[in-house]
Amino acid sequence: MSENTIEKEGVVKTNNFIHQIIDEELKAGKNGGRVHTRFPPEPNGYLHIGHAKSICLNFGTAQKYNGLTNLRFDDTNPSKEDTEYVESIMEDVHWLGFDWGDRLYYASDYFDQLFDFAVRLIQEGKAYVDDQDAETISAQKGTPTRPGTESPYRNRSVEENLDLFMRMKAGEFNEGDCVLRAKIDMTSPNMHMRDPIIYRIMKTPHHRTGDKWCIYPMYDFAHGQSDYWEGITHSICTLEFEVHRPLYDWFIDQLKDSDYRPRQIEFARLNLNYTVMSKRKLLELVKNNHVNGWDDPRMPTICGLRRRGYTPESIRAFAERIGVTKTDGVIDVSLLEYSIREDLNKRAQRVMGVIDPVKVVITNYPEGQVEQMEAINNPEDPAMGTRMVPFTREIYIEREDFMENPPKKFFRLSPGTEVRLRYAYFVTCTDVIKDPEGHIVEIHCTYDPASRGGNSPDGRKVKSTLHWVSATENVKAEVRLYDRLFNDEEPDGHKDIDFKEFLNPDSLKILPECYIEPFVKNVKPLDHFQFERLGYFTVDPDSTPEKPVFNRTVQLKDNWQKIKQNG
Ligand code: ATP
Ligand code: MG
Repeated sequence: MSENTIEKEGVVKTNNFIHQIIDEELKAGKNGGRVHTRFPPEPNGYLHIGHAKSICLNFGTAQKYNGLTNLRFDDTNPSKEDTEYVESIMEDVHWLGFDWGDRLYYASDYFDQLFDFAVRLIQEGKAYVDDQDAETISAQKGTPTRPGTESPYRNRSVEENLDLFMRMKAGEFNEGDCVLRAKIDMTSPNMHMRDPIIYRIMKTPHHRTGDKWCIYPMYDFAHGQSDYWEGITHSICTLEFEVHRPLYDWFIDQLKDSDYRPRQIEFARLNLNYTVMSKRKLLELVKNNHVNGWDDPRMPTICGLRRRGYTPESIRAFAERIGVTKTDGVIDVSLLEYSIREDLNKRAQRVMGVIDPVKVVITNYPEGQVEQMEAINNPEDPAMGTRMVPFTREIYIEREDFMENPPKKFFRLSPGTEVRLRYAYFVTCTDVIKDPEGHIVEIHCTYDPASRGGNSPDGRKVKSTLHWVSATENVKAEVRLYDRLFNDEEPDGHKDIDFKEFLNPDSLKILPECYIEPFVKNVKPLDHFQFERLGYFTVDPDSTPEKPVFNRTVQLKDNWQKIKQNG
């Protein structure tokens, strides 16, 4: 670990390169010591784990410097945006543990100011209305090595431009008839400076401004100005905006009337293997029913991770762990899984559950007897205490914990071997009952009454301890097991193959008949458990008192790592 790390609330807070920039600025007395960031989602989809990285960075940085963070919806494209997304984004940011106080903004709050600013640019000869269509404008842009060509409309008079722009606003033209462009430099080595479009006609009502506007500012024209009007000091964004920075600064230069200016700083976006992150692609999965909605537990969305059983703490710890850099890379999704495993290990109530049951009859155990066995709730946290688990003559164990003809290294239950039933007794298999097809329907065992509690009565050892659930005293539940949604490391990294071709057909397995100990009788959605030996499980919102539903959040060990090492 570098010397730039400090411990805070049990999580290592890395002093990343952005913090180093801020430290230097504060030393130099910049912005009067103020640190003010913003998180600027476009409400065109649900937030995903990549956004969580940005949220943790923006809010976390402000917290570190006793500053402020605004939530600002970048709602400049009414055709793709919706209030459903606005609501979900607010819920997700709060759930992650961050709060914007009374500083909730929308780029659309600034439509009047942006319009006035555009008028001012026209008046100063720095913007013009171009009547060419999009293809022509784009063809004239040139290439990074070949300068662009000036539009024939570039040198219209201020009066003509003002008149046309007012008529654009009044709705006199159709979509695509004309645009407003900033007049900067068609020969600039930076393509974004070659007279970028700043307003376009869109005859689409807006989810907040209704049909007041039929012209809308482009993202680049709205973002920096919004930062400026809100007093943002650090406009932290992902690397692809680095090439937009000169344009960001150019608009601020035209706008600013004081020494203050927001500073754009870029960082590398989060990429995860086996995952697609673009909202457009996630929307496609939802629309085409490849998943069951935005909050499907296989989705990398924040609401999907929440439903899967991820905690805000685990996601924040993940964001700390991956750090903030200037170079793009791909993070192994097992690091995300590690973060939730580590968090739930500390806090999850342990219970026993059998998800692939086979019945065991303990033939020398009294019929009708129920014994309460004391079990530890969480070995990591003694304060969580113990509970009682009912033991009966008939129990379930996991089908894979029994083998009739075991290979040498199989130490679990098989004819003639003795194993420990966790917290209960030593049992020895005496018989196997099969149906006419040869399928095992029942295993018969005898128990040693002297081994109560699972303790050896005479020092003799058993090689294995199995979890079990009473066949008569239990809660029947549905369990949903998940695997990766894609079976390719980079599903959207193939040139000629659609990412959906790599969907894993086995990513969801529903087990309708599982048995869990009675402790889970009154669970609520999002309650977390460790099912001993099987992993961490979280109660799904589909759960009812009659039929609890558990999602497997993550297995106890990283099975993929094992597969990779073996393969
Ligand atoms: P997507 O490409 O997934 O559609 P986006 O960048 O269009 O995402 P926005 O709503 O514009 O989504 O993003 C809001 C903020 O979150 C922006 O500051 C953006 O840079 C940041 N962000 C988006 N994706 C990631 C990511 N994968 N890693 C880190 N930050 C991200
Ligand atoms: Mg975007």
